[in-house]
Amino acid sequence: MRNKIVAGNWKMNKIRGEANDLVNALKTASIPAGTQVILGVPSLYLSELSSNLQGHAIKLSAQNCHQAVSGAYTGEISAAMLAAIDVPYVILGHSERRAYFHEDNAILAAKVDAALEAGLKVIFCCGEPLEVREANGHVAFVQKQLEEGLFHLDETAFANITIAYEPIWAIGTGVTASKEQAQEMHLEIRKMVAAKYGDASKSLHILYGGSVKPSNAGEIFAQPDVDGALVGGASLKADDFTQIIQA
Ligand code: PEP
Repeated sequence: MRNKIVAGNWKMNKIRGEANDLVNALKTASIPAGTQVILGVPSLYLSELSSNLQGHAIKLSAQNCHQAVSGAYTGEISAAMLAAIDVPYVILGHSERRAYFHEDNAILAAKVDAALEAGLKVIFCCGEPLEVREANGHVAFVQKQLEEGLFHLDETAFANITIAYEPIWAIGTGVTASKEQAQEMHLEIRKMVAAKYGDASKSLHILYGGSVKPSNAGEIFAQPDVDGALVGGASLKADDFTQIIQA
């Protein structure tokens, strides 16, 4: 039986005091047994919030890291830097990183390697744009993202991966995939992983992302192959995010 993961992706939001206020509010929330809460916060706050969350069950995630170990990459952050401040997770392959920062599957495969090498766990995002969904190409599209971004890993390394299926047409749009659409795609992803890694597919967490909110979290989480959510907008409000955690 897989536990549930509810991960927030704050993106480039929250000024320092607001970030601490939100974390302090979430620290008082009651978290159902067997639910792991992860906060993907701006990298600037990771160190401070890591101290704030010392000894608490809520874990932190970075939203990106560079693929190189170190060097002349102005403005970038390495996986080892994250590991050194006890950040356990990094989100890689978010559609905004793919679109605005031109991160293709080859770059993402290198980032995954760098993150795992530093001892981080990876939340790897995949998902199709609207025109691909409308042309019924979504399964093949996601398969290519996984094959090129993840499937070079051996089984031991793959155990540190969580996949987030985030259809681009549902991110930040208020349009959520139906529970049937989410379940269909999650099952397809689990089958792809089973074909490559066998039984490791049974323990793989597959999160849904795309306009998850308190009103739809329960029905999405009830799907057998949905193991939680990656939440953008609704993770910025303590009340909404708490309700999603409790769903
Ligand atoms: C996201 O960006 O990962 C996301 C799922 O955003 P939202 O919940 O706002 O759609």
